Amino acid sequence: LSLPQATGKPFADLCLFGQAASMKVIEWAMVLAPYAVFGLICNVTIHIGIETITGVGAYAVSVLLGLFSMFLVYLLIVSLIGKYNPLHFLRGIRNAQIFAFSTSSSAATMPFTLKAAEENLKIDEKVSRFVIPLGATINMDGTALYQAVAALFLCSVFGVDLSTGEIFLLMITTVGASIGTPATPGVGIIVLATILSGIGVPPEGVGIILGVDRILDMCRTTLNVTGDLVAT
Ligand code: ASP
Repeated sequence: LSLPQATGKPFADLCLFGQAASMKVIEWAMVLAPYAVFGLICNVTIHIGIETITGVGAYAVSVLLGLFSMFLVYLLIVSLIGKYNPLHFLRGIRNAQIFAFSTSSSAATMPFTLKAAEENLKIDEKVSRFVIPLGATINMDGTALYQAVAALFLCSVFGVDLSTGEIFLLMITTVGASIGTPATPGVGIIVLATILSGIGVPPEGVGIILGVDRILDMCRTTLNVTGDLVAT
């Protein structure tokens, strides 16, 4: 920025090239992805059986039920600890929730989250400008819940038996992993793959649940953003 434009141009061009080249590689990967997921699912179904596919439905419903119960806990917190009418709260945060649902990104929703907190819920700017950006980065309860359920589901698909202690450890790991999950669409599943290798499940197992991930991502992001607003 501080160099004359003509001197800095080659570096700027190099950066642009880097971005364009990366996007091209991602484009190629995206063309292959549906075939790769199909191959992974076939492989698992051949080895484990057709119950794998039917189990995915039960898994998705479990995640949604879990997210919904967490949502009810949030409303309880709002009314019992926050001493705020939950219906007013929901009306105030509606736009942020809709935006989170449609973009699947807590980070992209942040301007709406701030607006909901400051304009609709009348929260002091000093609080919201501190809590919301921090929350968008580290507070991902929906993601933690989803990662724990997904890990347990994949453990049962691949016949990995976890003791109560290991399940407890898994819960702690997923909470830690959710803190490290970037607030962008679809990354929760990538971080999940790293958790899986730690508990003895092949990371490519995520291929089984990739098909339903988008809708679950939309729902867990909505919960993540709701959590940020509850905390604020
Ligand atoms: N999409 C989520 C969020 O932005 C993160 C994830 O779970 O993939 O909050």
